[in-house]
Order: sequence, then C-alpha cells, then structure tokens
Amino acid sequence: MSDLTLRLLNRKPAISRRRVWQVRFGEIADRLVAAYGVPLLGNLDDPTQEIFYIVLSAKTTDSQYRRTYALLTAEFQSLSALADARVAKIVRCIVGGGLANKKARQVKLIASRLKAELGDDPTTGLRRMSAEDAFDFLTGLPGLGPKSALCVMMCSLNFDVFPVDVNVSRIAQRIGVVPRGLKHYDYTQTLPAVVPLGRSKELHVGLVVHGRTICLPRKPMCERCFLNDLCNFGKRRLRGKGDGRQRKRTRKTKGN
Ligand code: SF4
Repeated sequence: MSDLTLRLLNRKPAISRRRVWQVRFGEIADRLVAAYGVPLLGNLDDPTQEIFYIVLSAKTTDSQYRRTYALLTAEFQSLSALADARVAKIVRCIVGGGLANKKARQVKLIASRLKAELGDDPTTGLRRMSAEDAFDFLTGLPGLGPKSALCVMMCSLNFDVFPVDVNVSRIAQRIGVVPRGLKHYDYTQTLPAVVPLGRSKELHVGLVVHGRTICLPRKPMCERCFLNDLCNFGKRRLRGKGDGRQRKRTRKTKGN
C-alpha cells in the first residue's frame, strides 16, 4: 500500500476497513485504465514547466491557462529572462487568464527562487531530490500549496503520490469510501489512504476524466457507468429507478 502521500502530509490513515477499500480501488483503477488509458490531461513532463503551468491554471479555464502558458513561454524563453523580467511585462502576457497581477508576481518569484537555489537547470535538481525534499521545496514556492506540489511530483517527477481534486473527492464520496459533506481539505488528507501501491497516477487521472465525462457534478450518468456495481450512490439510484419502473409496470397491468 502507498503511504508516501500521507507521510508527506504528516497524516495517519483515517479510513475504516482500509484494506477492503484498497482492493476495491485497485479494481476501480483497472477499469479506469481499460476505459481511458492514463491520459496526460495537458500536464507537462518537465517539472520546471509544470510548476509555471500549475500556477497559471489557478481559478481559470483549461483553454485560458493553456493559452497564457503558451504566451508566457514564447515571450520568456529562459528562466533568467523570467526572473529578470518586470512584473508588468509578465502581466501583459498572462492577462487573459485572470488574477494576472498575483500570478505574475508569483511567476517572477518562483523563477528567481529556482535560479538561485537550483541554477539554470532546475529540472535536473528537482529530479535528483527525494520525495520529502521535493515536497518541502515545492510547497515553499509562492503559489504552490500541498495539492499543487503533489501534482508536480505525480505528473513530472513520477512519485507515487495522490493529489485529490474536486472530481476525485466527488466520486469517492458517491462510491461511499468517505462520508459526504466534509470540507474538501478533509478529503485531500484521507483519500490517499485507499490508493494501492503504484496506482496513484492511474487513479487520479482516470477519476478526473470520469468526473468530467460520466460522474458529472449535477447529473451523474449512473446507468452507463462502468463503476456502478462498486458505487453505493449508483447502486441506490439504479435500484430506485428499477423499483420506479417496476411500480409503473405493475400499475399499468392492474389498470388493464
Ligand atoms: S455509478 Fe454514478 S455516482 Fe457512481 S461513479 Fe458511476 S456515475 Fe458516479
């Protein structure tokens, strides 16, 4: 079982019947991979690029932050150029993505910190770090919280860590592994406990895709969901619909 995320977050596993849930999440991972593969979701292999990409992605849409990232990297082609740039010039590049002043200050500060602490090739330095060092370093950068740090570590540094986004926590609540109605923060601190060893990335990206396509926030499509036999919410819903249809059929037969 994978405890790396919990160790980095300094948490103890707080899920009852943990072993049972891990087996179930192993089955869920198998089905997600069979359905979707392990998509990149636009994330970048290079951890230095991924850091800036994630900072620009805050509170905006996919298309907007992809565009602002492309504009930023076209304008500033080296870390030094970014570290030395005036904030106003960075703002002009990324203004379409919202929170431009705040993000521009963060981008400049991050570029300066990366250059000062890891030199002109921070990617090599980041790849040499242990999980603990990478997590400490990344969460020390302006604009990167624990979830963003875990994303960089999972997507670009290949650590077996499990960031929890809103899609992941929504599906986990519906499946029934955690109670509904807690704060999102609580899910980020507990759900890594059910992830089997080595399956973090498959589960994370698979659940994100599933949450965007099938298990939608308002109208989950349980009838066509390949997880519905493993999901408490889906089972209840389909049973209810089945009962409803049965009741209608019975009424009709009696009417005849
Ligand atoms: S069965 Fe329904 S609620 Fe459960 S994961 Fe599938 S779509 Fe979501």
